[in-house]
Amino acid sequence: MARVPGKNPWIDLFSKHVENLEHGDKWTLNFNYKLCPDLDPEQREAGWKIYTTSSFGRFDCRCSNSWSSAHVVLLFHYRLRKNRGLVLLRLFRQGCRKCWNPPEQKPQVPRTKIENVFDRLIPKILKNCYGEKIDNVPRIQQHRKTKPHEKSLCEACALGICCNQEDVGD
Ligand SMILES: [Zn+2]
Ligand SMILES: [Zn+2]
Repeated sequence: MARVPGKNPWIDLFSKHVENLEHGDKWTLNFNYKLCPDLDPEQREAGWKIYTTSSFGRFDCRCSNSWSSAHVVLLFHYRLRKNRGLVLLRLFRQGCRKCWNPPEQKPQVPRTKIENVFDRLIPKILKNCYGEKIDNVPRIQQHRKTKPHEKSLCEACALGICCNQEDVGD
């Protein structure tokens, strides 16, 4: 499949990570900003799995304000069906505390952080879609100095899946 390298770092790095899956299935990553933080019974029945985690990123607002956040929340739905794997990703947005517009800024996550996220996601895929025995890798939390999290401007906080949460998923 043709893909433009470097077009989107998430898609670019995801395809690099799934190259090594050794199961011969084709895996694709798409963005979906309507993903819900829970799977309903029908989705579970259809084989969907869920993974919620967080990372570090940067937000740039139209008003020229920008900020860093250690609460960049990432929600994945994924499933393997008929040799095709699909991963859906919702990046949670944050609002700007200078102009107080509704949360509309998508995070820019550094490539090394994206790699870390996939290093956590891929073992879940191996375990839940291929039945491989994977030891849970303890998450090393890095504490980086950012301004206090503005919960009222955070899309993920509004859904109750942001602060104080550990990784969630099977
Ligand atoms: Zn702004
Ligand atoms: Zn939040």
